[in-house]
Amino acid sequence: MHPYILFISLASVIMFLGAGNMKAQSPVKNTVPGHVLVIHGGAGAITRESIPPAVEKMYRDSLCKVLLLGDSILRNGGSSLDAVEACIRMMENCPLFNAGKGAVFNSEGKNELDASIMDGKTHKAGAVSGLTIVKNPITAARCVMDKSPHVMMSGKGAEQFAREQGLELVNPSYFFTKQRWDDYLKMKAKSDSLEKVNKIHGTVGCVALDRYGNLAAGTSTGGMTFKKYGRVGDSPIIGAGTYADNESCAVSATGHGEFFIRNVVAYDISALMKYKGLNLVAAADYVVMQKLKAQGGSGGVICLDQKGNIAMPFNTSGMFRGYAKAGGEIKVAVWGDEN
Ligand code: ASP
Repeated sequence: MHPYILFISLASVIMFLGAGNMKAQSPVKNTVPGHVLVIHGGAGAITRESIPPAVEKMYRDSLCKVLLLGDSILRNGGSSLDAVEACIRMMENCPLFNAGKGAVFNSEGKNELDASIMDGKTHKAGAVSGLTIVKNPITAARCVMDKSPHVMMSGKGAEQFAREQGLELVNPSYFFTKQRWDDYLKMKAKSDSLEKVNKIHGTVGCVALDRYGNLAAGTSTGGMTFKKYGRVGDSPIIGAGTYADNESCAVSATGHGEFFIRNVVAYDISALMKYKGLNLVAAADYVVMQKLKAQGGSGGVICLDQKGNIAMPFNTSGMFRGYAKAGGEIKVAVWGDEN
């Protein structure tokens, strides 16, 4: 071979290898639109009349704070997984939402918490269900993903694992809020229906795209008021309430969990994109506004793809939601008529 040709070939190999390394460490240019973060705080049969303006403002302010936190993590080069975990922790610590403090009560008057998280790059995932003493279930889910060979852990075993990992544990009474207790009492006295008491689903979720082009998704919940002891909803089930794949999208769901499990909602949206070539909005709309709606499965999803496209369809009258983009745009919305 001519020495010049050999030089060119070697140079291309070195450049190619170099580019590979760079890709692993530096921001992906030209293909990724900068970071994007999307959150939800639950969907439900809420109306402008049923929520006092002051309460609506509290929700909007909280969502805004969460978006600012996630945006700053991503802006400073943090990963989508870190942003998802941090945002969900903040919502778990806020009593307004049905996750962590503020979780709903089951039929025995206890709080049982579920959460999951998924990495769109590696497809690694972690989930926990039936927790009663772990302050931040999303961090327990992240530990299952990062520090165990498993994907899902439940109940006492998951709590023992959380203790071993040094996670913050609390007395079960930490999760108590009067609003959720009153809802529980109404259900117990059968003075309200399951649908009415669960009118604000209140689960929290987050999907994010970081500057490296990686998607992540997470969801955390107390489940549904008066659920049976031991009932597990969609939120901790990978593919139902949470899913992330860099090649399609990241999804977090909120709604009547049994419908979301049966329809494998989060994975269905991803699969419609991957195998049928639907775009994000078309895939999410089809699953939530047609498939679920036809079955009476109430709720919504937040979805994000690698190009930074967002879809947030819900078939209820409202969904607490918002997004933040690298360009500085931040938006919070509750009602269906808000863009
Ligand atoms: N999807 C949750 C569950 O069924 C409830 C919710 O979204 O609020 O456990």
